[in-house]
Amino acid sequence: MDPINPLEQALHAARARVLADLVTGEVAEADVVSLVEDSVVQRRWWVEQWPAGADYVAGLVAQDVQDALLERYGRWPLCPVCPSGGPHALDVEPELGPDPYWVCHKAGVKVAAVGSLGRATGGMPSS
Ligand SMILES: [Zn+2]
Repeated sequence: MDPINPLEQALHAARARVLADLVTGEVAEADVVSLVEDSVVQRRWWVEQWPAGADYVAGLVAQDVQDALLERYGRWPLCPVCPSGGPHALDVEPELGPDPYWVCHKAGVKVAAVGSLGRATGGMPSS
């Protein structure tokens, strides 16, 4: 057996985290999942050129999918913390760094780690 490739592990983890957030937002349709796959393919190439960036892949895949969704469906993920002010999307911070978070720039808060959006939205009272 081949030793486990850390780059593949990072890519696999990134895909799992972004998919988890898509499921939370109930947008994990088949064509949306393919957007994640497209991003992972591109980021595999990217991280092969720059293995030190393996920790950054989750944040990058999240931003790729966010951009792709914006073109096709609209804003994602919608901010779950602001009670008013109109729907707005969360941003990934850092844009290029480890341990990416979804943040709301309007409220100036970290909402959840990428991959843990369900915990933030699930904990909100829905009525
Ligand atoms: Zn907000």
